[in-house]
Amino acid sequence: MTSSRLQPDSIAVHAGREDLAELGVHVPPIDLSSTNPLPDIEAGGLSYEAMASGGTPTAEGGAVYARLWNPTVARFESALARTENAEAAVAFSSGMAAMTAAVLATVQGTRRHVLAVRPLYGGTDHLLASGLLGTEVTYCTAADVASAVRPDTAMVVVETPANPTLDLVDIRAVVEAAPGVPVLVDNTFATPVLQNPTDLGAAMALHSATKYLGGHGDVVAGVIACGQEQAAALRRVRAVTGGLLHPLGAYLLHRGLATLPIRVRAQQANARSIAEWLTTHPSVTRVHYPGNAGDPHSLLGSQMRGTGAMISIELRGGFEQAACVTSAVGLFTHAVSLGGVDSLIQHPAALTHRPVAAEARPSAGLVRLSIGLEDSEDLMADLDQALAAPRPAPVPAGASRA
Ligand SMILES: *Cc1c(COP(=O)(O)O)cnc(C)c1O
Repeated sequence: MTSSRLQPDSIAVHAGREDLAELGVHVPPIDLSSTNPLPDIEAGGLSYEAMASGGTPTAEGGAVYARLWNPTVARFESALARTENAEAAVAFSSGMAAMTAAVLATVQGTRRHVLAVRPLYGGTDHLLASGLLGTEVTYCTAADVASAVRPDTAMVVVETPANPTLDLVDIRAVVEAAPGVPVLVDNTFATPVLQNPTDLGAAMALHSATKYLGGHGDVVAGVIACGQEQAAALRRVRAVTGGLLHPLGAYLLHRGLATLPIRVRAQQANARSIAEWLTTHPSVTRVHYPGNAGDPHSLLGSQMRGTGAMISIELRGGFEQAACVTSAVGLFTHAVSLGGVDSLIQHPAALTHRPVAAEARPSAGLVRLSIGLEDSEDLMADLDQALAAPRPAPVPAGASRA
């Protein structure tokens, strides 16, 4: 098959399905076995050892046990790796399980310092700040990476576009600023359709697959696209710690990949119209949307192939108005998460970014919109009526806000 020359849209539909005709089926089979019959002790043991050290099962010994290997999950991983133009991918039970494995697989010995470029997803920020994984974290801006990197820096973590400000970080510049240090890029917001961090020098591209990759709000999962060596280290951590993706989830994610490019482009087209309209809305003081904010590095086009479908807005009426808007929407659902076919609205400071230190928490008047596949006019009408929803009467000066 000449699949290496296929365009990304064709890869999204066909990757990980190369052997189906040979198997006599049209869609990927789902293998739910938790254990596998062993041919004999010797062959089974050798295969076990290969997988426990990060490799793949041997033909003679087979998969042995599902914590070590599952063919349905491996099929999704090979497809995702193709869409990211990476050598390999390793899937996990959630985005945070993937982030945990990335840290555990990367820090070692006395190299336990993590450089984290804020803003990050609240859960990631919290995980690194907690020190739970034995790391020491320094938070910095993208511009400060070169001066903040230390001899014991094990990895750099960045998110672009960042959650929830949609700030764009120059991946190539961060890689250059930390020579020899693996850079992990959280690519959840961009998706492989709009950005491929490993092509820009990042060691790992992480996805909360719960979001765009699944796309339908029915799977919690994470996946990391990377080189073969890094993948072996990640599989070793996964085999030991057990943050596995269930094969049913892997099947759904693999199915979701086929429509990913078309979903992302349609959601992005909706988001562009809505972001433009929001800039003229009297209740909105600022629209955070790539390109809208005057991206100084022209990263659109060179790094990211589109603007994506996430928008954050700052409301004139601050937190009180955010509380009204999120309760007044009808077509949008007031819920965390993002990237699905239906539109969601949420308040990061109170929800997704609640565990973040006060100085780095999003502003109280900021709400985040995940734009779905509904008609953009319907979405604007819903936002318009929600933005007009009556606000509680202002608290008189001197009165307590109990
Ligand atoms: C949701 C999210 C995560 C965490 O993923 P889970 O699947 O919820 O564990 C990580 N990064 C970003 C950018 C996210 O939006």
